[in-house]
Amino acid sequence: MEMKETHPIDDLIRTDRIPHIWCSGCGIGIAVHCFLNAIRKSGIPPKNFAVVSGIGCSGRVAGYVKLDSFHTTHGRPIPFAVGLKLANDRLKVVVFSGDGDLIAIGGNHFIHAARRNVDITVICVNNFNYGMTGGQAAPTTPVRARTSTTPYGNFEFPFNLAYLAAGSGAVYVSRWTTLHAKQLEDSMLEALGKKGFTFVEAISPCPTLYNRMNKLGTALDFMKFCKEHSVIRHGADPKTANIDLRGDIVVGRFVNVERPTFTDFLEEGLAQGLPHRKALLDEERKEFEHE
Ligand code: SF4
Repeated sequence: MEMKETHPIDDLIRTDRIPHIWCSGCGIGIAVHCFLNAIRKSGIPPKNFAVVSGIGCSGRVAGYVKLDSFHTTHGRPIPFAVGLKLANDRLKVVVFSGDGDLIAIGGNHFIHAARRNVDITVICVNNFNYGMTGGQAAPTTPVRARTSTTPYGNFEFPFNLAYLAAGSGAVYVSRWTTLHAKQLEDSMLEALGKKGFTFVEAISPCPTLYNRMNKLGTALDFMKFCKEHSVIRHGADPKTANIDLRGDIVVGRFVNVERPTFTDFLEEGLAQGLPHRKALLDEERKEFEHE
């Protein structure tokens, strides 16, 4: 008798596209598993989700989830997501992408969507380098870390993504490593349930490139590193949560505040400002016709 192997999240995965492209030991799979579990627990029907990714290893997620999804151009998942949300406010729009895509090429989109408090959730898998294109330095690469473009060590200060998101206006900001699968899933669930620009950072191993170049060992060694060096500090000022090459990693829920969303303002404008503006225009037109 033929045995068919199944997995508990098969119904949310495009199993016909498996095997996936990710290297053995890569943390992206854990982040995806947490995300799909969070979707299931959210109680929101899968048909109401739209998942948008950019380019890169994490950008492949859009192609593997059995949800309406959009694999967009490099650095642009956020503008695509904002467009989807504005076109159909009932959708739960999630951007799932990597640090290079979201914060380098897409950096401006990230800060401005957070500033506007557009009602989307952004999940960023941060592995401190551009994995797919050969392990180049990214805006998240810690000082002194080696990458294929910084063989003598990186001499630039990296972005602290939690601080960047909070400073730009995100209403929810959390960070976990892929070792903290349960907390990561819970954070994703919280972010999905909240209105406004919500941000979840998943620190993830890239054993093939970043870990190897920095002698951080195997994926399992990275997990041990996360266990020994993670410090849970809920409510910490994200400014104090910089990440160094071999230092502690502050994790937790840093921000959880309320603020009107872009759509709230838009609806307010439509209800008040625009009819008023239309009345002015009508008046001007009448005056013009009488001249
Ligand atoms: S290159 Fe790095 S980030 Fe990309 S799949 Fe391999 S381990 Fe993961």
